[in-house]
Amino acid sequence: MLINDLIAVVGLDHCLTDPDLRAGYEVDWTGRYRGQTPAVVRPGSVEELSAVLALCHAAHQPVVVQGGNTGMVGGSVPLAKELLISVARLGNLQVVSPTKLRAGAGATLARVQDAALAAGASFGVDTAARDSATIGGMIATNAGGMNVVRFGPMGDQLLDAGVVLADGEYIPSLRDTRPDHRAFGLIDHLAGSEGVLAVVAHATLAIGTDPPQVAVAMIEVPAGRLQRLIQAVEELPSVYAIELFGAREVELTAAAIGRTAPLTGDWLVLVECRSAEDPAVSLGQVVGELPAVVATNQTAGGELWLFREALTEAVSRLGVPHKFDVRVPHDALNQLRPRVEAAAPGGTVFVWGHAFSNRYGHPTANLHVNVVGRVDDEGVFDVVEDLGGSIAAEHGIGTAKRHRATRARGDLVELREIKDRLDPAGILNPNVLFPV
Ligand SMILES: Cc1cc2nc3c(=O)[nH]c(=O)nc-3n(C[C@H](O)[C@H](O)[C@H](O)COP(=O)(O)OP(=O)(O)OC[C@H]3O[C@@H](n4cnc5c(N)ncnc54)[C@H](O)[C@@H]3O)c2cc1C
Repeated sequence: MLINDLIAVVGLDHCLTDPDLRAGYEVDWTGRYRGQTPAVVRPGSVEELSAVLALCHAAHQPVVVQGGNTGMVGGSVPLAKELLISVARLGNLQVVSPTKLRAGAGATLARVQDAALAAGASFGVDTAARDSATIGGMIATNAGGMNVVRFGPMGDQLLDAGVVLADGEYIPSLRDTRPDHRAFGLIDHLAGSEGVLAVVAHATLAIGTDPPQVAVAMIEVPAGRLQRLIQAVEELPSVYAIELFGAREVELTAAAIGRTAPLTGDWLVLVECRSAEDPAVSLGQVVGELPAVVATNQTAGGELWLFREALTEAVSRLGVPHKFDVRVPHDALNQLRPRVEAAAPGGTVFVWGHAFSNRYGHPTANLHVNVVGRVDDEGVFDVVEDLGGSIAAEHGIGTAKRHRATRARGDLVELREIKDRLDPAGILNPNVLFPV
């Protein structure tokens, strides 16, 4: 009955019940999370999205929202037989002004970047998942990415959003919500809410202009120098990215992309700087006598970035990795790998990620710890917490970390209250984020 009503809204071609057509939506990017759904519904407009949610709400039908399905924590797949709403067709893009772009929730990051570029601007968030990850999914997870040291995470770029609530009510602008409306203040909680509060339909995002000159350096850093080097790089006004990885990681990507690793050592720090004047000069002063390869144009810089960007896929080719997206303070960076290795005897541990200082000025790093082979997951979480870190950095909590969520996020009590107000029947992403 519900399925027939949904077909009446979106059309037969966009309500997929055939198991072969559903299959790609039912498993996540890592292959670790696999579920089943009665139907994949793909609304083609905000009106259709609103009508779909109204029908699901009336039928008490739980739903999972999916964007690009590149999430790493099992939040985008129907693990408890929820109905799946894919927002991928909501992909409209419009550059509103030199500082503002409006994107449908299903627009991929790459399309947003291209649209900004075509208007002579750029968008601040970048990740290696750019060809598939969508604006809605990136807001829902508050994605960080490579330029987090410069621009902060996705929430910092979010000027406004249009959302559809669980019962189908469409709110075209969260910035223009009456104080007595139940969604008042939702804009401040949307980034990182993992689809439990509302479905993002479209967003207005900040764009800007990048300075013309670029320098990219891969620097070999001994463990004892790492913290000082990161701190010095962070103080450069031109800094755009500080990426960390080690010899094991660069050798893996070198093999995957058919190159020779340019450097090796305890840590490799990939730094990108941009400014009006040649940023290589001040970057060179920070690098000092450390071994480094420096590129001073986009093409040569892109060659160095390849060693970092190919990592996620290169590791996945070794098997289905256990993925830990964790945050640790800079003074614990050197302890992380050996301590995770102790929790993963027989497994191979890969570590890479983004260094920055969080909005309160604490030096921290969002690290993607990948273990191929056997590992004690809880042991890894214990290590991270013992090092003063957090078990959830920029991928969210999803279903994967719910059992430890209370310790990872202090704001969950407030989010629960908002959820109860906006979605009292609890149909939106009912199995993610909140503690079991
Ligand atoms: C190669 C690779 C590299 C990556 N690098 C990074 C990185 O550097 N930094 C980083 O932060 N992440 C990274 N990721 C993880 C992933 O790309 C991000 O989590 C991204 O934000 C997910 O976007 P998505 O559209 O794929 O969302 P999905 O995976 O489809 O969904 C993720 C979550 O958002 C919810 N959601 C999706 N769309 C909406 C919507 N419209 N409204 C409400 N909720 C919604 C889903 O229900 C789910 O809970 C990487 C992934 C890959 C595969």
